[in-house]
Parts: sequence; structure tokens; C-alpha cells
Amino acid sequence: MSARQRYSVFALLALLGALLFVPPHVRAADPIEIFDAHLHYNWEPKPALALDDVLALFRKHRVTGILATSRPNIGTHALVGAKAQGMAEGLWVVPFIRPYRIRADIGSWFNDPSIYDLVLEEYKRGGYYGVGEFHLTGRAAATDWVRKVVDFTVTNNLCLHAHADEEAVRILIGHNPKSRIIWAHTGFSLAPERVAALLDQHPALWGELSYRGGITDGSGKLTPAWRALFERYPDRFLIGSDTWINERWMSYGDIMAGYRGWLVQLPPEIAAKIAHGNAKALFAGPAPAVR
Ligand SMILES: [Zn+2]
Repeated sequence: MSARQRYSVFALLALLGALLFVPPHVRAADPIEIFDAHLHYNWEPKPALALDDVLALFRKHRVTGILATSRPNIGTHALVGAKAQGMAEGLWVVPFIRPYRIRADIGSWFNDPSIYDLVLEEYKRGGYYGVGEFHLTGRAAATDWVRKVVDFTVTNNLCLHAHADEEAVRILIGHNPKSRIIWAHTGFSLAPERVAALLDQHPALWGELSYRGGITDGSGKLTPAWRALFERYPDRFLIGSDTWINERWMSYGDIMAGYRGWLVQLPPEIAAKIAHGNAKALFAGPAPAVR
């Protein structure tokens, strides 16, 4: 063996050694698994990211389940289709019917009979777990069409995903006390004691925490008020990305890192419930059968 050959063998062995040896402290523990309970894969007329890129993003950030919605519902069909075709292994897709065709429906759906028809038509496709996200402010929730949607979800064992203020949540509960409501954004900045009062009033209310203010202080530390809420109601909170605009897709990793930053400050069993356990319990079993 020439010196040159000896050198080559040595270099190869050194390279193999470097590849095989990873110091234990470099191997980070897996980040906590997350169920994204507020996802929009809008398709107007094209999605912000291709389906493959979205699925890669979920894998990269250990998002193992999604509450999938889209305006119009075609984006949700694509996510459900990806799962059916084996493109989304390890991802649990929980589709909700979005009661919107175009963005302007946000401001009028609650008085629009054609939206009720849309919900009924979409439901017939099967596989849905709920209706939402929809928007309601105050008395806008008090219409017959909203009551019909609420009753429809109760009859068919579906959930609601409501972006609603305190008054609108109370009206939704009043429409049908058996309604199961995911409260998108959990009132944004509503005082924690008012959030607690609603959770006490309606046992089938879950707070989703995207854009929710006050959870951490300026330094990223959990505030005492929210730590107390999570400890008192560990089964009642969910987290989500709310990818309502393209910018939210671009910052998807930061959003998930933000959640993990305060989840790690909670007792592990509570963190696991909020990160994914509560969603898994809420959507346990197959989608309600179409009747
Ligand atoms: Zn949203």
C-alpha cells in the first residue's frame, strides 16, 4: 500500500467515525408533538404552499394532527385526499366544513340561507368532524341561520369552531346547550376570569389559543393567571396556527416554537394535554357517519 493509499484508507475511516459518532448532548429530545387545532389551507384560487410543502412543514415541526379547514373547502379536500393516498403518513387529518365560499362571506354568512345549504351539501361528502371556523360578533350570533347550524351540528354529533366574542359564545350555548364548541382565540384579550366563567358554564367548550394575549409576559414566561387557568382546566385548551394569511405559513415554525416555549414551563402531563391530548380526546374515533 502506498503512502497515498494509506492516507485514503485513514481518511475514509476518520470520515466513517465522524458520521457514526454523535455526542449524546447533540441529540435533542424530540419536541413535544402538536395537534394544530386551527389550520386553514385556503385555496383562492391557489394555495400559498403546495401540498407537498405543507406536509413537509408538519413533519419538520412535529405536527401530528390538524383541524383542517379551507376557504373554499377544496383545500380541505386536498388534505383529506393526501391522507387517503398515503402522502401524509403520521398525520391525523380532522376536517371541518368551512361555511365560506369567499372572504366576504365572513360578514354575512349568519344571515345567508345559501350558506346553510352549503353546510348541508358539504356534509354529504362525509368524513367531517365539525363546522367552522366561522366569525360572530355579539348579536350576529342570534339569527335563525346560526341556530340552524348549531342544531345541525348537535343532531349529527359535530363540533363548532367559533371565532366569537363573549356575547356570541353565550348566544351559541343558548341556541343549544348540547353544542360542542371550540372557541377560536379564546376571546383574544378577554380577562382570564371571564374565560374561566364560560368554561364553568359550558362543559363542552374548549379554548383554542392562537392570537390569545396574556399567556406569557414580555420575556416569554407564563403569566400566573394563565398558569392557573391551565392547571385548573387542563382538559379544556387546544393550540393552533391560524394560517389565515400566507405570512402565517411563512412563520409556521416560529408559531410552533412559541407554543413549545411556554408548554415546557407547565407540568409535562398538562403540556401534553394542551399540545395534542385534548384534541385527540375530542376527536377520538372515526368521523360521525353521514345520516
Ligand atoms: Zn382562523
